[in-house]
Amino acid sequence: MLSFDPEKVSLPAGHYIGGQHCQSQGASFEVKRPSDGRVYATLQDATPQDVDRAVTVAHQALKSSGWSGCPPRERGRVLRRWADLIEQDALLAQLEALGSTRPINDVVLHEIPFTAEAIRFYAECADKYSGDLFPTRDSSLGMLIAEPYGVIAAITPWNFPLSMASWKCGPALAAGNAVVLKPSELTPFSTVRMAELAIQAGLPAGVLNIVQGSGAVTGSALVKHPLVRKVSFTGSTLTGQRIMSDAAQHGMKPVTLELGGKSPQLVFDDAGDLEVLAQRILRGFTANGGQACVAGTRLIVQRNIADPLVERLAQLCREVKPGVTWQEDSRYAPLIDERQGNKVCSVIEAAKAQGAEVLVGGGRFADTDDGWFWQPTLLSHVTQDNPAVQQEIFGPVLTVQTFDDEEQGLAMAAHDTYGLCAGVHTLSLPRALRAMRAIDAGTVWINRYGRSGDFIIPTGGFLGSGIGKDLGRQAFQACQRQKSVLIDF
Ligand code: NAD
Repeated sequence: MLSFDPEKVSLPAGHYIGGQHCQSQGASFEVKRPSDGRVYATLQDATPQDVDRAVTVAHQALKSSGWSGCPPRERGRVLRRWADLIEQDALLAQLEALGSTRPINDVVLHEIPFTAEAIRFYAECADKYSGDLFPTRDSSLGMLIAEPYGVIAAITPWNFPLSMASWKCGPALAAGNAVVLKPSELTPFSTVRMAELAIQAGLPAGVLNIVQGSGAVTGSALVKHPLVRKVSFTGSTLTGQRIMSDAAQHGMKPVTLELGGKSPQLVFDDAGDLEVLAQRILRGFTANGGQACVAGTRLIVQRNIADPLVERLAQLCREVKPGVTWQEDSRYAPLIDERQGNKVCSVIEAAKAQGAEVLVGGGRFADTDDGWFWQPTLLSHVTQDNPAVQQEIFGPVLTVQTFDDEEQGLAMAAHDTYGLCAGVHTLSLPRALRAMRAIDAGTVWINRYGRSGDFIIPTGGFLGSGIGKDLGRQAFQACQRQKSVLIDF
């Protein structure tokens, strides 16, 4: 039985520094349950002084614990134990379902196993990738040594709190760094529990620390801290720009930026079974209530199959049922909060003002208390410059555009701002490969939509969707700096 009583979940205290829970004197902020909008906790922003303490503790813990210098396989062992604890911890799953938009069933079946497996993947990387040896004169030896940066700042969004934390902490810790992580102020608690489990697994206290608070106060102080040597960020493009600028001005720190998206689903008339396609497209834009950077929110479909496909999609949209995240049978995520609800609403209104027609949905589900459950929404009659085509909405809204030939379809799939992902649906291999080459996006899925559990495949965007990669060995190597050495003998 996965259902639970949200009033009975015990919350860990806010900040977690040096293996201890601690309070702060910063400004208070309320934390609300997305499913019903109820305030369930009040926390304080970590002030710049708190952030300084967390980063200093992390810096000292690296020196005193020997985490950077220990045999890499030992780091791998700790991370594997951590992954096991994550999978076994019922409280962690409840904290995630209570405070985020993920229904408990989804948390237990997907979020927790994905989080644990990502950490195991990096446990395996710990002793697999090193530097290089160069061909030099006989009397010298040239090499490249990979070493940890030191303290890495990780800043994560609210849409997948646990897996985002694992994508940041897994590679950084496996490579021998310490981490100070700031989760979103909207979803603070599951990450603290995750850090407690890391210490239980044998991670030296202080090597992973959590600070809570707003981006403007806590996040900004973290990015600018002189002992932070690298910043790994996932969030919106606007915040990514700010962080890149702050990191450049405060120590020229390298940044990994995983940002927003507005991904196309390009469907050709030879894509196969329409029912399979309709289900795939539905999942692509409604998973997590559309609050996924990779959401496939622009359907671009060849005209001769558009009507039956869109009709079936509309039927499937009407069958979606909302339900609070602590009920086992809930499958559909609420929007994170009222602000996000207002944003979805305002883009739909702006889209309608420019000619868009609502085929299905377009508003909040009735009778869902103060939770912002948004109906899956299809918008037709949109031109390429319509706000719903141009802007990342971060809600379950799909625009529908039609094309006649491949060239036109590819032109519609292109986006001026974002280049995160794309789905191409066709059974013609040459056509799929032409589309894959033409599309300006960091990930192209062909005849599927969404990630698999193959953590070896990195993810990351082009254009305004970001810089660098999460996942894959690329993320591990991005947590190491390379030192060139030349020895004469
Ligand atoms: P956001 O940019 O508002 O916030 C993300 C994080 O940054 C939060 O922890 C926030 O407190 C912090 N932050 C805000 N201002 C900051 C500053 N000046 N300095 C330091 N930290 C600051 O994003 P969000 O609304 O939490 O998340 C949604 C966005 O995240 C969407 O745009 C989505 O596409 C993106 N996202 C991208 C990926 C990816 O892998 N590309 C994955 C998930 C989410």
